[in-house]
Amino acid sequence: MFEQALGLGMTGTETADVSSLVNFTQPEKEKFMANVMSLSPKLRDLAIHKVLFLDKKISEMKEDRARVGKKFFTDEMASDHLPDPRLSDGGNSYEVENKISIALHERGDKVWDRSQEMKQKLITSPREAVLCVDCQNMIDKDRNEEVPHTRHCVACKNSHNGNGHNGNHNGK
Ligand SMILES: [Zn+2]
Repeated sequence: MFEQALGLGMTGTETADVSSLVNFTQPEKEKFMANVMSLSPKLRDLAIHKVLFLDKKISEMKEDRARVGKKFFTDEMASDHLPDPRLSDGGNSYEVENKISIALHERGDKVWDRSQEMKQKLITSPREAVLCVDCQNMIDKDRNEEVPHTRHCVACKNSHNGNGHNGNHNGK
């Protein structure tokens, strides 16, 4: 483990990684960086790793949303002429946007909502974002890569899925 050797300084690579985030505004990136700097090297490493995967996941969901939106217009409006809804006149475009939200909501887009919550948590409190809400252990990288919006470590996640939450996790 070489984390300790990094001390409080960010390496060039980490800074470059964070500035590549596409779903974060500049102020959000700066706030994240400032908060992440106060963490121990190990937690900082986890938080940066998590933020990169969450960012990627949000981009994937946006692409998915765009596709769903298009399909929704086609099916629902049965029109072969589909102008960009944002360019159509006022009330109409509001209505269209609304229909998309409802469609996505009904589709059960929980992952989107949780990802947005996790994004805010990473920005305002990156330490909490990488610690399991149940046992306070660090959520490992594999778990964060797989489910970037997660708030639980593997052990707690598994115990939720099993016979209730009896809290008997060994290891990790
Ligand atoms: Zn846990």
